[in-house]
Amino acid sequence: MKKALGIDIGGTKILYGIVNEKGEILSELKKTPTPKTADEIYSTLKKIIEENYNDIDAVGLSSAGAVNLENTRVLSSTPNLPDGYNQIDFSTLSDKKIYVENDANCACAAEYQNGAGKGFRTVLMITIGTGIGGGMISEGKLFRGSTGNALEVGSLKIFADKRQKCTCGRYDCWESYASGTGLKNCAKTGAQTYPEFKTSIYKDKLPQDITTYDITDGVEKNDDFCVKVFNQWIDYMFVGLVSLTDIFNPDCIVISGGMCSFIDVEDLEKRINEESVVSNTKVKTALTGNNAGMIGAGVLALSASSR
Ligand SMILES: [Zn+2]
Repeated sequence: MKKALGIDIGGTKILYGIVNEKGEILSELKKTPTPKTADEIYSTLKKIIEENYNDIDAVGLSSAGAVNLENTRVLSSTPNLPDGYNQIDFSTLSDKKIYVENDANCACAAEYQNGAGKGFRTVLMITIGTGIGGGMISEGKLFRGSTGNALEVGSLKIFADKRQKCTCGRYDCWESYASGTGLKNCAKTGAQTYPEFKTSIYKDKLPQDITTYDITDGVEKNDDFCVKVFNQWIDYMFVGLVSLTDIFNPDCIVISGGMCSFIDVEDLEKRINEESVVSNTKVKTALTGNNAGMIGAGVLALSASSR
């Protein structure tokens, strides 16, 4: 079976290891801090590839940002990576096949091949952290869209009357309601409108100072205000997911990211199947964790090099 070096380029560290076509990890995983300049990132990647050159058939790179259709460059500027990063032509790193893909797409490929989406043909992955990311494998293939930027689900607009400004500068993106930041926003709005706030354990806090952690902690303590805010947040999540289910008709939705441990996927699955027009969609929690980008990049590089 062919092997690829999977490399996940994060804002703080570069994680890498060797995987096979099934998404199984074959080597010890290594990491190194992400250098501060684009030139140093390039030379670090070159060195990592050279060290593994004799053991691999292809190299997959997982990165934040939009990737070009040829899978050789990251087009957009990414806030956690240095200036000049989007000038790098990754295909020049080695004479082995190099394949760059957006991190959310890589994570989806990892879950499809060897995670919660294993055994399903059409897998929609939604990553809920500070923002919301998305990726989809449709009938066994990565769904990329005309320019490679499909599944930017965090930017789904859920209201038209400019209720809440998103961190991206636009208004009413789904992620400003249903991400970790969204939960904080729900708390801020809820503190001003829900009568339960007056008797909450957070009643002496300023609405804007209530954190995501305050709410999840308050839910565990059965605080009426926190439960109400949390349920509102889940409702926002549901609204996006049920719409995406009707659009893409996935067999399985995989939820990942920092917020996913707070989500009752069985309850979400029940609600989605009650209210979507398509039927029998599974909802699961991701299994590949921090290795998702690295595994998915490797799997996609092997699949691309066999075409
Ligand atoms: Zn936005």
